[in-house]
Amino acid sequence: MDIKNTKLYKKHEKYLVWTRQKVPLNDFSGLDFLEKLDYEFEKTPNFKPLIKENIKYIAIHHAEIDNGNREYYHWLHKAYFGWDAIGYHFVIGNGKDGLSIDGKIEEGRSLNYQGAHVKSVNHESIGICLVGNMDNYRPTEKQYDSLISLVKKLISKYDIDISNVRGHNEFKGVTKTCPGKMFDLEEFRNMLKE
Ligand SMILES: [Zn+2]
Repeated sequence: MDIKNTKLYKKHEKYLVWTRQKVPLNDFSGLDFLEKLDYEFEKTPNFKPLIKENIKYIAIHHAEIDNGNREYYHWLHKAYFGWDAIGYHFVIGNGKDGLSIDGKIEEGRSLNYQGAHVKSVNHESIGICLVGNMDNYRPTEKQYDSLISLVKKLISKYDIDISNVRGHNEFKGVTKTCPGKMFDLEEFRNMLKE
């Protein structure tokens, strides 16, 4: 799906403007955002717990748009999909347009809750999103380094097999290119072995 061709793009642009106004460019400490999210989780009975012992997969995504940050995607997911919160557990910035910091890892939906990122495995997976459109370019070096260190930490913490670190498009029934044609998943898994 090319987001720019959708009817909702206007809404999307509106939220981009909103985010620019709301998120000071030099303050991504995020405390306020996570506090706000916690509040929303408490208010919303729809979130299902993510049972730690069940975590089997890590799913890598790209945003499919050039810029953004967790707060932006949070609002985007609410506006676009009517979800209650951002679907990803982590977002890694690319620094584009001052909306994110290159390589900075931001926490999204709490790992206490199932994400909304790969329908068939939300109950047993962690979702990580790279800001950018990796159909057109590779992740930035800093983004890639951050992704490797984050995934290494998660696979050791939750005892996840490297072969279960997958691109969104490697899950059954997925037809989209996510995490993008330029993201080499084999190369990435090899990096995790080092
Ligand atoms: Zn995806």
